[in-house]
Amino acid sequence: NVIREEEASFLRTLDQGLQLVENVISATEGKIVSGQKAFELYDTFGFPKDLTALILRERGLELDEKGFENAMFEQKTRSRAASETSTDDWTILVEGNTETFVGYDLLVNEVKITRYRRIDSKKDGQLYQIVLDSTPFYPEGGGQVGDKGILTSANETIEVLDTKKENNLILHFTKNLPENVNASFIAQVDKNLRSDSASNHSATHLLHQALRVILGTHVEQKGSLVSPNYLRFDFSHFAKVTEQELHQVEMFVNERIQEQLPLIERRDIPFAQAVEEGAMALFGEKYGDNVRAIKFGESMELCGGIHVKNTADIWQFKIVSEGAVAAGIRRIEAITNKGVKEFYDAQENALKEIKETLKNPQDVLKSVTSLQDENAKLKKQVEQLLKEKIDGLKNNLVAEFQVVNGVNFLSKQVDLSMSATKDLAQAIGASKPNSFVFLASIEDNLPNIHCSISKDLVTDRGLNAGNVIRELGKYIEGNGGGQPFFASGKGKDVLGIPEALENAVNFLK
Ligand SMILES: [Zn+2]
Repeated sequence: NVIREEEASFLRTLDQGLQLVENVISATEGKIVSGQKAFELYDTFGFPKDLTALILRERGLELDEKGFENAMFEQKTRSRAASETSTDDWTILVEGNTETFVGYDLLVNEVKITRYRRIDSKKDGQLYQIVLDSTPFYPEGGGQVGDKGILTSANETIEVLDTKKENNLILHFTKNLPENVNASFIAQVDKNLRSDSASNHSATHLLHQALRVILGTHVEQKGSLVSPNYLRFDFSHFAKVTEQELHQVEMFVNERIQEQLPLIERRDIPFAQAVEEGAMALFGEKYGDNVRAIKFGESMELCGGIHVKNTADIWQFKIVSEGAVAAGIRRIEAITNKGVKEFYDAQENALKEIKETLKNPQDVLKSVTSLQDENAKLKKQVEQLLKEKIDGLKNNLVAEFQVVNGVNFLSKQVDLSMSATKDLAQAIGASKPNSFVFLASIEDNLPNIHCSISKDLVTDRGLNAGNVIRELGKYIEGNGGGQPFFASGKGKDVLGIPEALENAVNFLK
């Protein structure tokens, strides 16, 4: 089933890719197709270059290979420049790597700086990395973002922008260095951000459990991101999760929250014992000999993250989106706690505004439906009126044909939208044999032009509507194209329309 789904997903990619190649082809003038455009197809949609080149060859077109290579090179240079970082050597104040993490129990702690260094990154500018003898700051890991907060001494306050772990050191990122690096500091984690993260992260455990109960035990975590604002959870599953299943998952998690399950945390138990007791080891995590097991009711996982003390602290869980990230991998985004309250507040406000806009009807839904019905009716009327207008114009214009060198010739400006002008040019061309029709109109203050040439004139006289649009398009600072018997174009300068209309006749001389 998974293989079939992957095959289907590849075919969908192929299908979309082919449509995109078609778009590129129709936007191409001449025989050479832009390497930049082909690279975008490759880069954004994963459409292979060789396949693009093959399709183009079959259509008598050629891919600008050099342009493709250049675009690829430029992108590589760009991403390299963005990640370039220069790092100074450590200034060591206290020898030895004795930093301890106390953040599972404390949010505030007295600390000393043991070492620091300056880093310069193109992306974030100049920053300092500070290492402490002990720290309550949780470093980014297990999908959970790093803590923010402050370091305060008797004289100053330094803001900690982020916390990360590197080579077993917990690094606190700051914009400035304290004036006295040897002072004692109070390290203080931002409590609100931390508890929002803990709420979202703990809900991830319950979500994982819910998915395995409702969708099946084939569900495995494939990735996770937890920030104070929301949580994101990627997992293996071969089909779209239905509305009904999502609802069940949401209910399951909210039931666990209502049960007020206390956090049972066991630090430093042997890995084998934890797994034997039923703890789930997560994808992509490396575990040491001793692990930390986190239990909320029946959910038990090996995890180094930050959790709420009781599931009741999550308050509410709400899924906001579900979708595919890759073949066989789905992604759920969800919110908890304050996020849910804000979500419902926003929904309520939106509904209130809609009601006010509709002049506070008793039944909002009925009011919207009747607006839609009315809109549909009006649309039909407009279409009918437009059709009548085009028919009338068509009859008037047919009378204005002139014979130039044996060809029925017409060049006119009309007062219609671009698409209606296009339809009109086609209709007139079709109804008059041996004809050359050139129409112009203005939509949104921009000129557009259309040319229809009877097929026999295309073959007998070598006339080409595409060439006409390109040549006359110059008067309106425009461009466009199409087929030899019909082409359209758009321009920027409406003042050039009269000249374009005047010069159309030259194609017959
Ligand atoms: Zn956890």
